[in-house]
Amino acid sequence: MLRVALLSLLALPLCSQQRSHKAHEHGHAKLNIAFETTTGAPVGSVELESPAESIIGFEYAAKTPADKAKQEKALATLKARFGEMVVLPVGCKMTPAKVEVHLDGQHAEVHAEFNVRCAGPIAGKSISFGFSKVFPKIDEVEVQLLAGSQQAKLEVQKDKGSLQIAK
Ligand SMILES: [Zn+2]
Repeated sequence: MLRVALLSLLALPLCSQQRSHKAHEHGHAKLNIAFETTTGAPVGSVELESPAESIIGFEYAAKTPADKAKQEKALATLKARFGEMVVLPVGCKMTPAKVEVHLDGQHAEVHAEFNVRCAGPIAGKSISFGFSKVFPKIDEVEVQLLAGSQQAKLEVQKDKGSLQIAK
């Protein structure tokens, strides 16, 4: 139950609000990481919201076969290489739960959710990033971490910096 509560709490800032996508800045993404606990074998979720331009290369509805193929390829890359973009402690495995494109007027967002399972404790370990290695247009990511009772924020520019999970 705790997990459900955590995940819905996490989902709030990104999903439910009717935020104007006009405000998004290309190249700037948001990432939420949540673990209910950092001991034992933690489970959690990772959620990314990025301007579609930074991942797919365009923000209109894909209609031509070429655009559809481009979009499909980009989303497949996102799923397959997410572990390089968000480098979790060794033993943690991410599984894609949802990858969608939300169109909104002139803009579009890619929204991705991954479930995480870790084989062992993650307390004291760190999380690093490699967004621009996979999608070079992503140069800034606002990261929020919720791990047990810990809350932390980090602005990752060009993949620099890491988040330390509290002991
Ligand atoms: Zn846009």
